[in-house]
Amino acid sequence: MRPMYINGTFTNGNAKEEIQVQNPATEEILDSVPRGTPQDVEAAVTAARSAFEAWRKMGANERANLLHEVAEKVHKHREEIVRLLTLEEGKPYSENDEEVEWVLNTFRYYAELGRHHRGSVLAAGSPSQFNFIIKEPYGVVGCIVPWNFPLLLLAWKVAPALAAGNTVVIKPSEMTPLTALYLAEHCFDHLPAGVVNVVTGYGSETGEPLVSHPDVPVIAFTGSLATGQRIASIAAPMMKKLHLELGGKDATVIAEDADPEIAAKAVAYAALINAGQVCTSTERVYLPRRGAAKFTEAIVEHIKTLRLGSGLEPTTDMGPMIGETYRAKFESHIADAKERGAKILVGGGRPANLSKGFFHEPTVLSGVDHSMVIMREETFGPAVPLMEYTTFDEAVKLTNDCKYGLGAVLISNDPKKIKQFFDDVKAGTIWINDPLTDHYAGPFGGMKYSGGARELGEEGLEQFRETKHVHWDFNMEDKDYWYPYGR
Ligand code: NAD
Repeated sequence: MRPMYINGTFTNGNAKEEIQVQNPATEEILDSVPRGTPQDVEAAVTAARSAFEAWRKMGANERANLLHEVAEKVHKHREEIVRLLTLEEGKPYSENDEEVEWVLNTFRYYAELGRHHRGSVLAAGSPSQFNFIIKEPYGVVGCIVPWNFPLLLLAWKVAPALAAGNTVVIKPSEMTPLTALYLAEHCFDHLPAGVVNVVTGYGSETGEPLVSHPDVPVIAFTGSLATGQRIASIAAPMMKKLHLELGGKDATVIAEDADPEIAAKAVAYAALINAGQVCTSTERVYLPRRGAAKFTEAIVEHIKTLRLGSGLEPTTDMGPMIGETYRAKFESHIADAKERGAKILVGGGRPANLSKGFFHEPTVLSGVDHSMVIMREETFGPAVPLMEYTTFDEAVKLTNDCKYGLGAVLISNDPKKIKQFFDDVKAGTIWINDPLTDHYAGPFGGMKYSGGARELGEEGLEQFRETKHVHWDFNMEDKDYWYPYGR
């Protein structure tokens, strides 16, 4: 069993039971972690609270250097981390290698952004006064992370929270806690005790106590809409600062001018990376009615070539889904679409050659419409539903006909369409011809039910800082606007 990390020590805390961690490609048990309790959350928050004053008052240069050291350690242990991530999460090694690169660069980026940040001085209210704005950390930040990018989403929270002078308690997903604990042991170990803590366990037993803890003023959460709503309902009466990154149902629109081969490859990547288990996965594809046949054929032919298997095999294009519950939900979306008249063009079932693991074939469907669950709810699996549109206005309308607003993709070189798309589509990221590529300095997050938080960029740091205006009068003298009035 891998212990938790609380106050700089490795401990099983009050856990009486363990949670087994499974390899989704083989169904083998990889290891186990303590089934954390509310008392363990209490201990971690107490440690983070005690470490806070010294951490927030630490000089910016020293703190930046410590964050750079995290990045250097991730770099040093890159191969072991990527391997462990592949074993516990399942996606191909190359995708995990990229995830780990994101982790180390996120620490580098926020190390420098934290050091570089400048406050602002206002034009003084009167000659004897000095007005300025300072930014300060909140205190202890609860970082609750899902399983689909266990380290990247951890880094997008922890690096800016620490750079801003907060301390953190991390609650990884119960399905992928091993890599977070690995980072604690090998990459966070030089930080002062209590600055970073990792508590493992289920959402209801460790996540909720973290959310409701009076000494945790900020919750940074990535996960499903339902959990986000639950967290919001607990946190709202406590006036907590919530930073919610929730679900998505992103669309890709292929415009008439698109090259079918390029569009097919872009769609396959956008829809199937991490077996479609990305919050910004393309889950709806809109094709122009004129030319639909050639786009459909190119997509079908390309997706037929993709190879399923263990993420450790260099030839694997797509790994398994994370678990049985997620696969069953995915299959129910496919079944609903079929019942309502959709046609399966590729896939549609579990691969016959892989008897173990939570694999599902990449599945291309045609004849879908917005009455089907697969076009309305988050599917979170390897589906590529194709729907035709007549005018580009209609394509934009269909893209916006969704409760989520995380990202949207357009494949086109037509400037008029591109401008219409980024002006009129309600989503936090618009990708044109290069789906799902993020940028360290470019804010990432959603609109509508995807939650309003932003990670990365200056906005990502801002989420973890409070604003304070200081009004300072050098002259200690009686003011003519004080009592008594009418002087
Ligand atoms: P989830 O909501 O089930 O779990 C996420 C985390 O919350 C886990 O650590 C879980 O243990 C914890 N949790 C569960 N119940 C809780 C509770 N009551 N209180 C506090 N914590 C609780 O989500 P998941 O299945 O792990 O992840 C998939 C979801 O995450 C998808 O909906 C996906 O779209 C979303 N996601 C969003 C983004 C984004 O940036 N917007 C990125 C990745 C994933």
